[in-house]
This record gives sequence, C-alpha cells and structure tokens, in this order.
Amino acid sequence: MIKPISFKVVLITLQCVLSIALSAQHASKPKRVIFLIGDGMGLSQISGAMSTYTGQNAFLRFPFIGLSKTSSAKQYITDSGAGATAFSIGKKTYNHAIGVDADTVPLPTLFELAKQRKLSTGVVVTSSIQHATPASFYAHVGNRRLYDSISTFLLNGNCDIAIGGGADFIFNRKDKRDLSAELKASGFLVINDTILKDIAATKYIYLLAKDGMPTMQKGRGDYLKRAAEQAVKNLSTNKNGFMLMIEGSQIDWGGHENNYKYMASELYDFNETINVVLDMAAKDKEMLVVVTADHETGGLALNEHDDPLRFSPIYTTKDHSGVMVPVFAYGAGAQEFAGMYENTEIFNKLVKLLNLK
Ligand code: MG
Ligand code: ZN
Repeated sequence: MIKPISFKVVLITLQCVLSIALSAQHASKPKRVIFLIGDGMGLSQISGAMSTYTGQNAFLRFPFIGLSKTSSAKQYITDSGAGATAFSIGKKTYNHAIGVDADTVPLPTLFELAKQRKLSTGVVVTSSIQHATPASFYAHVGNRRLYDSISTFLLNGNCDIAIGGGADFIFNRKDKRDLSAELKASGFLVINDTILKDIAATKYIYLLAKDGMPTMQKGRGDYLKRAAEQAVKNLSTNKNGFMLMIEGSQIDWGGHENNYKYMASELYDFNETINVVLDMAAKDKEMLVVVTADHETGGLALNEHDDPLRFSPIYTTKDHSGVMVPVFAYGAGAQEFAGMYENTEIFNKLVKLLNLK
C-alpha cells in the first residue's frame, strides 16, 4: 500500500518533470541559425498585412524584438546591397556594394566564416540567387548588377545550397562560359527545373526560373515554405551545424511598384515560411531564428479610411525609406537581439553566438 507521504512525493516529481518538459529551454548558443530577411519589410508592411491575415501570425511567436538602424556608409537611405552586406560582413558600405566595404575591399562574409568552422551554408530566395540580398552572403563585387560575375563566386564553395531563380546567369551567360559544367566539376549538383522536388544532396544549386521567381499573385504557391524545409533537411546532415538565409525577396518589389496587394501577398507567404521555421526551431534546442529586413520600401503609411475599422495604405515613395526595421528572434541566443542597434550589429551578434571569430 502506498503511504500518503510517498504518493505526494511522486506527484511533486511528476509535476517537476512536466514543467521542465513544457518549458524545454533553448541552449545559450545555437548550432543552427536560420536568418530570414523580408526585403523591404518595415513595421507598416507587417502591421497592415498581418491585420488582415486570417492564418497564424508568425510575428506573435517571437519572445525577443529589436530595432535595426538601416543607413549605409554614405547614404541615410540604404539599398539592398549595402543592407545585406551590413549583415554579411558587419561593415556599413556604399549602396549597390556586395560583400565589400566602403573602400571596395572584400571582407569575409558570415558564410565564409561559418565554412571555416565547418558549418554548412545556404540561401533560399524568391528572387534570383544572384540578387543583392543572397549575393551579399557569398560574393564580393563592387556593383550588385554584375549577376554573371556574382554567379562565379558560387564556385568558391562558400554557399553549399542555393534555391531560387537566376538560371540565365548560369546557363545563358553573356560571356558564354559554361558555368554549369564548372559548378558540377566543383562538386555541385546543378538543377534547372520549374518545380522543386525532394533531393538528398548536400551541395546543390537549384534554379527554378530564368531570373526572379514568379509572384504569389501569379501562382508561386508554397514554393518558399517547401524550399526552406528542403534546405533545412539537407543542411541538417552536417552535425557541426548550419547557417541558412531565407529571403522574402518580393515584399520589396511590391513596395517599389506601390502595389499594396502585391506586397501583402508576398508578406503572407513569408509569414507562412516563418511559421514553418519556428515549428522546426521549437523542436530544436540549438536552433536560432532571426527575422528582420534590410530596409523599408515605399514609405508605406496606414492612413484613415472611410470605414473606421479599415485603413488606407498610402505610399510616399517608389524607393526605400530610412525608418528603422524590426528584428524578431526566437530560440538559442535569441535574447541577444533585444534592443536598438545598427544593422551591422546583427553580424556581430551572429559571429559571437556561433563562435565564428
Ligand atoms: Mg532582396
Ligand atoms: Zn528595393
């Protein structure tokens, strides 16, 4: 027969086990980092799009939030080259720069530092894989428009996995160079297809469009979410860890067009991708998820509407604006991202958390 006292001890023990299980703590330092960039995604974009979204709002799931100051070295209003380069090399640079500092000096990117530590790296985007944001993580060129040149940096092997558009800059190059053959000789699987299929490789360039991917409005479907899952599956085979950059590239393109519905449909898609990534991070104590933007696009304001319960989206520019952008963090080391800081600090925080220097 169980004595009352020992029954109580069993209950307390059960309670302890249960509470520890429910609050599964993330490690203080991550092994796996998923860095999501919503290009042109300011607070107005998130506020507007999420207020009308009927699914789960991923942004509500982050315990730590910061603010990033986006100016580049020479201009208050950054472009995506300088914006992503601030994250990738930790230095403010001039607009249109890719992986080089303000004096056009190439500096090691997060991916290069991660590779030195034997981590795997990857980019998943809805633009071409040579577009300014992803290029800043593996290439070093003075001008973002040099797509053919940016492609050749993939040969260096600092980006293990790339999924997105950009087939033209590999297969249909101005210099007629057979970069596809060179990439294959360097150990890459090079795939040119219109739909993403499951693969088991750990080093590949998966090209799904000549240049940018189709818009959500033109039926891109759940590509970004599936590409994110595919990349994580392949990168996870490296027990040392990985760094994956996922970009909602076209949130920015909707902003440049001052097309609110285009922007919102892209942000909905990005939101769903963040949800999938957070679900993975919830089961992985050594995963860190950081979501931010390189800058805001369109100077979007949510102004009064005839219907007091609605808002009118008003754009104030066809270009980027200089407002700070939010940073959302979840998982191992996420608390480091609370506060207000320059965009270059995101590089420093990731370097510190992954012991990259
Ligand atoms: Mg971009
Ligand atoms: Zn832009």
